[in-house]
Amino acid sequence: MTVLRAQALGKKYGSHWALKDCDLDIPAGHVVGLVGPNGAGKTTLMNLAVGQLRPTAGDITVLGNKPGSGPAQLARVGYVAQDTPTYAGLSIADHLRLGARLNPGWDDALARNRLEQLGLGLDRKAGKLSGGQRAQLALTLGIAKRPELLVLDEPVAALDPLARREFLQGLMEAAAEQELSVLLSSHLVSDLERVCDYLIVLVDSRVRVAGEVEELLATHHRLTGPRRDR
Ligand code: ATP
Repeated sequence: MTVLRAQALGKKYGSHWALKDCDLDIPAGHVVGLVGPNGAGKTTLMNLAVGQLRPTAGDITVLGNKPGSGPAQLARVGYVAQDTPTYAGLSIADHLRLGARLNPGWDDALARNRLEQLGLGLDRKAGKLSGGQRAQLALTLGIAKRPELLVLDEPVAALDPLARREFLQGLMEAAAEQELSVLLSSHLVSDLERVCDYLIVLVDSRVRVAGEVEELLATHHRLTGPRRDR
């Protein structure tokens, strides 16, 4: 199954192409890293994938369907946006109740187990959590929806190095345990190299490189020859 296919995909704001001539064909089951500098078009591509934006040009399908084409498709794709709201005045338990009401496939046991492992008590108010804990709560809510694809827009950008590592480790474990496909963005390749097995490099609104990390490394080694610095 193809998790994300884009053909000549483009999105224009006024006269500016935020994403242009994007071709992708990504099999399911990967943790895909989307890397590029600020303004490269990462959020635009993610918003197209989850159906929050419509393309100006070309086509995109996610899990075989047009993004945002109906409730069934929306339930298959989880989105942890840069500004995913956790409600400061609500407890973690309230967030779980909200998740259960909004998502038909909600897995409450999974959410509770994960929060317990993280040491996050259900009665704590989201507004009292640290940045790393809030990010973990958002990740837990995304996973408990039991999507087939989880899209995360720069989830670790504002976190300290320890919280970054813990978040990415948890994401990797969840992806492996639940056979979840993941699309994860960052402007730092160092965030992605440990967790992703597929990489998309986006620069100036265009996909410059896309492929399995192993293949990209093999190509790199073929082009540059054996390393002499060892
Ligand atoms: P960042 O890492 O800063 O979040 P990004 O790679 O996610 O950047 P996008 O947010 O997709 O990049 O933006 C791509 C380009 O499109 C940028 O030049 C941005 O200014 C522009 N852009 C994004 N959203 C809009 C909008 N709603 N209206 C006009 N221009 C926009």
